[in-house]
Amino acid sequence: MGHILNRDLYVPSIDAWIDPSVPRPRAVITHGHADHARSGHGAVLATPKTIEIMKVRYGVDCADTFQGLDFGEKLTINDAVVSLYPAGHILGSAQVLIEAQGQRAVVTGDYKRLPDRTAEAFEPVACDLMVTEATFGLPVFQHPKPQSEIARLLKSVQDQPERCHLVGSYALGKAQRVIALLRDAGWDKPIYLHGAMIRLCELYEQLGVPLGNLIPATGTTKAEMAGQIVIAPPSAIRDKWSRRFPDPVVCQASGWMSVKQRARQALVELPLIISDHCDWGELNQSIHDSGASTIWVTHGREDALVYWCKKQGLEAEPLALPGLDDDGGEGGE
Ligand SMILES: [Zn+2]
Ligand SMILES: [Zn+2]
Repeated sequence: MGHILNRDLYVPSIDAWIDPSVPRPRAVITHGHADHARSGHGAVLATPKTIEIMKVRYGVDCADTFQGLDFGEKLTINDAVVSLYPAGHILGSAQVLIEAQGQRAVVTGDYKRLPDRTAEAFEPVACDLMVTEATFGLPVFQHPKPQSEIARLLKSVQDQPERCHLVGSYALGKAQRVIALLRDAGWDKPIYLHGAMIRLCELYEQLGVPLGNLIPATGTTKAEMAGQIVIAPPSAIRDKWSRRFPDPVVCQASGWMSVKQRARQALVELPLIISDHCDWGELNQSIHDSGASTIWVTHGREDALVYWCKKQGLEAEPLALPGLDDDGGEGGE
């Protein structure tokens, strides 16, 4: 018997694609990052929060129609049942479960298992076929606790009160997580935002994620920014925009900051290893928890994870999906 899902993540029984890279008549969207959610589809099925995120980023008419599906709710289409489960990656992010012909297939989208109060907690979903991402699919990737990374940031702020700390963070997901981690570590001063962050931070708050006092970084004087923390897109922290701040400490929050060469190349003075993807151990654990006998690996370092799966006696193969880049600009965090 064939699989209920094709290798391009087309689901024949419901005539829809999951996270298609080009406009399609019907699309199931795992989450709002640009390498998964695009504008121009006909009908979009996603969690209500992902739909809100898409509308803020791409406009209210970025698809012809939207259908929201809550976590755990079952939607029957033709002979198949579609449901969504939390992926723990960013707010609203979902794994997609397709049940058809007595088989269960899960597409994880991007996911992580570490607790994060800005995203619904990951839930393992039992299945026969698991399509897993592998952004950090190498044994060298063992992410530290994000709280210890935030503690290093706050120590640096304390030690250098005359400087401003600029934290490069992608605007969707990472920025809000860094802010929440700072709040939970006791940082109750205002946090300053680059303009690109403001609408998405407002949306997170509307959707029930409190972020504390946030202030636009524009219009502030150099003197008042000493000892402050600014969140900005990675592209902004080294360009002309950053010169308005007093002797800025360039920081970046990303899973890739564990690769020292990357941090150096990006001229990051204080790298913060804060990842919204599974590390190697979390990937292994998730594959184990799913009980799946067939694993398709995509979106990153496929080969090592495919090899690991085969050693566990599982069927495994890499999927080469178009449009999913390995460090994903904004998605590969
Ligand atoms: Zn991605
Ligand atoms: Zn993502």
